[in-house]
Amino acid sequence: MADKFDVIVIGAGPGGYVAAIRAAQMGLKTACVEKWVNKEGKTVHGGTCLNVGCIPSKALLETSHKFVEARDHFAEVGIEVDEPKANIAKMLEFKNSVINKNVGGISALFKANGVTSLEGKGKVTSSTEVEVTDHDGNATTYTADNIVIAAGSVPVEIPPTPLTDDLIVTSTGALEFTEVPKRLGVIGAGVIGLELGSVWKRLGAEVTVLEAMDSFLPMVDSAIAKETQKLLKKQGLDIKLGARVTGSEVKDSEVVVKYTDADGEQEMTFDKLIVCVGRRPYTQGVIADGVGVELDERGFIFVDDQCRTNVPNVYAIGDCVRGPMLAHKASEEGVMVADIIAGHKAEMNYDAIPSVIYTSPEVAWVGMTEQDAKAKGIEVKTGSFPFSANGRALANNAPEGMAKIIADAETDRILGMHIVSQHAGELIAQGVIAMEFGSSAEDLALTCYAHPSTSEAIHEAALAVEGHAIHMANRKKR
Ligand code: FAD
Ligand code: AMP
Repeated sequence: MADKFDVIVIGAGPGGYVAAIRAAQMGLKTACVEKWVNKEGKTVHGGTCLNVGCIPSKALLETSHKFVEARDHFAEVGIEVDEPKANIAKMLEFKNSVINKNVGGISALFKANGVTSLEGKGKVTSSTEVEVTDHDGNATTYTADNIVIAAGSVPVEIPPTPLTDDLIVTSTGALEFTEVPKRLGVIGAGVIGLELGSVWKRLGAEVTVLEAMDSFLPMVDSAIAKETQKLLKKQGLDIKLGARVTGSEVKDSEVVVKYTDADGEQEMTFDKLIVCVGRRPYTQGVIADGVGVELDERGFIFVDDQCRTNVPNVYAIGDCVRGPMLAHKASEEGVMVADIIAGHKAEMNYDAIPSVIYTSPEVAWVGMTEQDAKAKGIEVKTGSFPFSANGRALANNAPEGMAKIIADAETDRILGMHIVSQHAGELIAQGVIAMEFGSSAEDLALTCYAHPSTSEAIHEAALAVEGHAIHMANRKKR
């Protein structure tokens, strides 16, 4: 008779592994099933995030950024070096070592917290049973009082650009290029497309990003999106908006891409093409017919605000359910669900989930844009501050970008914060905490910030909400 658990989690990505650890910490007998195996055939935890997502992309973004700093910017601050060379093999080796450390860390945390690791493919066969098929094809059924599905997502593929082994690839393939493509095409100017386009542009590729929509980063406040577009263009990223890819042809070792824009049909030839048109929930084979777990019209597992499916004691979290496809959103849902199963009251604030694009400078935001607020009929006041007026940003030789705070005109409550700057991904935590605590812009304005720090730009943006930024010439007078 196979073991019985209080909780079985399917999937060990940032949703599932966090849910499993938290459940074990709450004293629940917990198992986590994972099917992912690495090139050596060993089960690896961490899901998309650690293996082919957040972490490897950030390793390559950081190394390529350092390369550009050395090549283009050291001389500006008085550091003279010989022309640096990018050693792609070494960069990939570094990226893989970062993956291995992170992945190994999760396995160690499972052991330390007493989470049972089940290796193989999990399938919910009833509201209390999970069948696990191991890598040799042997199936075992485990019972559990509660089941958490955290099966994640996979890249969307589109008919005009069928994937090939190494010419037309998804984000996963783009983390593995062994040399810099001369001409790189990227379909989709979303978060992943801009990050991966930036990596290979920095290392020397000519990068063209084809984006079907006419607007750039519509989820970001338009002032910040406009500034970002200008900065990325200055770096040489050719972002074509209103360019819908309609077809492709592989000829010899080139890809000819057809797209339509305002001027009609167009064609471009690339050495590699990355398809970054979004991700879709992965639910294939995860739930047996007859269990009755409902999916929504887009294929996401249907859940309520607390990640309960329509089947009692079966929960679903992370990329396979509604909401932003972000690792930290998945993890927080994992914590919430584990707490609920342990008998606690728990909920998530979906209005305060930050997003970051790790380009250089970074783009980060939380909450509403000024345009969102206006569309909802909310009257707002805003405060913006440029990093070119921030002492630390100037000292860092990183004066690009700006911070913007959107506050309710009547209550002064912060509704959103949008930033483009060096380390915006770190700075945004201030907006998240402020919103989580229901702060007003004045609360931030009255806070004492360390000097010199780039965080002072947030302070100044908060002061600017009432027109009182100190280091800005054109401030309002009382
Ligand atoms: P996943 O991480 O996809 O994990 C799901 C796991 O479930 C996988 O390990 C899978 O093997 C396993 N699984 C599925 N079905 C079964 C089954 N039947 N049995 C056993 N196991 C199963 N997000 C950010 O927040 N920040 C970033 O900077 C960021 N960068 C990204 C960069 C790239 C290139 C990509 C592709 C994604 C990035 N993301 C980022 C998104 C992030 O990776 C996902 O939002 C996150 O991984 C979702 O976590 P999850 O646990 O829901 O799913
Ligand atoms: P994201 O969902 O943030 O990963 O972004 C994916 C982007 O790809 C979106 O901005 C889409 O508009 C874009 N996209 C989807 N299909 C196409 C297409 N056929 N041609 C160009 N862009 C596309």
